Amino acid sequence: MGVLLLFVDGLGLGEDDPGRNPVARARLRRLRLLRDCPAPDPAATLIPTDACLGVAGLPQSATGQTSILAGVNAPAAMGRHINGYCTKSLAEILDGRSLFSCVKAAGGEATFANAYTPAFLANLPRFLSVSTVATLRAGLRFRTLDDLARGEALFHDFTNRLLPERGYSLPTITPGEAGRRLACLAQRHAFTMYEHFLTDRAGHTQDMARGVEILEDLEALLDGVLSITDRSADLVILTSDHGNLEDLSTSRHTRNPVPTVLWGAGAAEAAAGIKDLTDIAPAILRHLGML
Ligand SMILES: [Zn+2]
Repeated sequence: MGVLLLFVDGLGLGEDDPGRNPVARARLRRLRLLRDCPAPDPAATLIPTDACLGVAGLPQSATGQTSILAGVNAPAAMGRHINGYCTKSLAEILDGRSLFSCVKAAGGEATFANAYTPAFLANLPRFLSVSTVATLRAGLRFRTLDDLARGEALFHDFTNRLLPERGYSLPTITPGEAGRRLACLAQRHAFTMYEHFLTDRAGHTQDMARGVEILEDLEALLDGVLSITDRSADLVILTSDHGNLEDLSTSRHTRNPVPTVLWGAGAAEAAAGIKDLTDIAPAILRHLGML
């Protein structure tokens, strides 16, 4: 009966053009998500999801992620799309309204699956991501490198290959193993979120080879997740905050719709209510019987 939200930063639905869209170039099955095409995985439901939310300009991470997590039109509330880190006003929107807070208030177990380093936790930076602020405001525990070593968290690159950049080292794992670990964690919680942002970074650097590699790893992660998820009981949702990686002709975000893809129990019912980013949180809470 649990929900796993796989949040992938900066992935829109682009054209079937391998010259500029790594989604069209990579070897993908489930994640071959293209504009005006049905979900390539017959077991999945794909909803092209509006990330612009009626606000002019390019959609951005802080307002998009707040909209996903709190089910509130954050760019409309702020009067503009806000990039990067969580602002004081966005933190106030998240306070008591994020999926983490709502699930906890309804008596469910919620967790953010990403592992934080000791250096980060010992001295929290002044500027924090929306997911970090939502975790803090909901009073949830941050997962640590000890959790990661026990297989009960994932680093943001999910294979641990980038961990040495932060001055730490753990054995690397395959994307498939990472996916299986994430699914195990999700089985023990009503709501689990995992955030992956290398997709957005590859979009900004317009790096086709890196984009292809990241997408193929992400597909293997998803295969791992779905290989042990009980799809008669649990729901897996992948979504994004704005377009970027799907169009490497620009280093900026795009106004393309983003893919919301659902697998498992109640996928069609949950999908039926989703049109834009603000619909995802209520769909999850309804699925959990908490709304
Ligand atoms: Zn970005």
